[in-house]
Amino acid sequence: MPDTDDTSHGPVRLRQLLTQNRELKAIGVWNWTLPAWAGRLDDGRTFNTCPSAGICAKVCYARQGTYLWPVVRAKHHANLAFVLDDLPGWEAAMLTELAAKKFTGAWIRVHDAGDFFSDAYLQAWLRICRARPDLHFYAYTKEVDRFRRLVEPDPPPNFLWVYSYGGTQDRQLDPDVDRVADVFPDEQSLVEAGYSSQDASDLLAVLGPRLVGIPANRIHAFLKAMAGRRFSTWQAQEDEQRAVRRHRIGRPPGAKAA
Ligand code: SF4
Repeated sequence: MPDTDDTSHGPVRLRQLLTQNRELKAIGVWNWTLPAWAGRLDDGRTFNTCPSAGICAKVCYARQGTYLWPVVRAKHHANLAFVLDDLPGWEAAMLTELAAKKFTGAWIRVHDAGDFFSDAYLQAWLRICRARPDLHFYAYTKEVDRFRRLVEPDPPPNFLWVYSYGGTQDRQLDPDVDRVADVFPDEQSLVEAGYSSQDASDLLAVLGPRLVGIPANRIHAFLKAMAGRRFSTWQAQEDEQRAVRRHRIGRPPGAKAA
């Protein structure tokens, strides 16, 4: 359960920013998260924390199951509201929390759900990483362009990341150079494609071989939507179909396809 002071009469008061489930505790990882993708805060503000999400949003693990529990949802919304309302205050609070003894030598996973949705938010995380060189930070991201501009030229030495397929910027990725993660229908298909599973430990996503394979959640509707495809293939097909639709719309009325 997230660490919140739950109340039905007002905003959730955050007791702590970072959480840890049993799985992450076993590998010494603490987690920060936002609500996934697009939604609306209780005060009516709309948000999109994954502006470069593509097909992944159709099968988003963080938009089902326990993520929909009111107390979990409220915690994630409160995290986002803090960032949006007072980014310097949130940054200071994160640094204060990270000063606690229990984080000595820890790994911090930046985002269970959500992504680096703005330059200012990513830059706040880069400052946090540099302020705590004794800690390790890592993230999955689909914000390829933002990372190319703001992180790749001079990354904090204690910040590792993996680009994940299934987003609108997939075409900017080069699996011969970039560390990339792809979701596959099952373990066998990822091994056959030359990828290594991070199933044994989430840290393998940044510490293991550069081609990271993730077996899909065994959720019937998700597997049906994937139709045996890996995310990179599915996204490439979607991009192609969108390009065809755009081309048709751009064609003069009455014109016929060749
Ligand atoms: S980027 Fe992750 S959290 Fe965001 S919509 Fe895609 S799968 Fe969900």
